[in-house]
Amino acid sequence: MQSPAGGWLSISSERGDDWLAEQLENLWEDRFQDTPRVNNVEIYFARPWKTRLGVISLIGNGHQTSIRINSLLCDSQVPDEICIVTVAHELVHYAHGFGSPLPRKFAHPHQGNVVSRELVLRGLSRELQYYRDWIADNWYPFYYSQMGHRRGRGHLRDVHRQPHARSAACHT
Ligand SMILES: [Zn+2]
Repeated sequence: MQSPAGGWLSISSERGDDWLAEQLENLWEDRFQDTPRVNNVEIYFARPWKTRLGVISLIGNGHQTSIRINSLLCDSQVPDEICIVTVAHELVHYAHGFGSPLPRKFAHPHQGNVVSRELVLRGLSRELQYYRDWIADNWYPFYYSQMGHRRGRGHLRDVHRQPHARSAACHT
């Protein structure tokens, strides 16, 4: 998204772990009221992964859920929606019993597109479409602009592969 002046539109100048926790709270209150919070849930920016935007895991005998978000998403060039959909994606996993003590609703976390379907059901279709388009158009160029290019076969394989939303989505 570019501002009329031609620069990157920066909505969140202070996007840190506190901001992430706030987005989690907002989503839980606005979109996931029916999902009980049955343990302690922490969320924070972790590492600049290339092919994952977020990951949710259950730790400490189920007493704690850890949601880690790609640290590149704290950059102001990344629109808020990308972070918010990523957090919502992980919350859907929580609701489905992945990375949470809740009963598992499916055999696999991404079975039959269940995450996207649930995001639409919870009123996030506009944000989801924006997220998909942005990731498809921007993720790999943005990643390389931040992390630099690596020479070698891996790099060549990456630039010749058509990036799409799923390839940079979530691994549980
Ligand atoms: Zn996922």
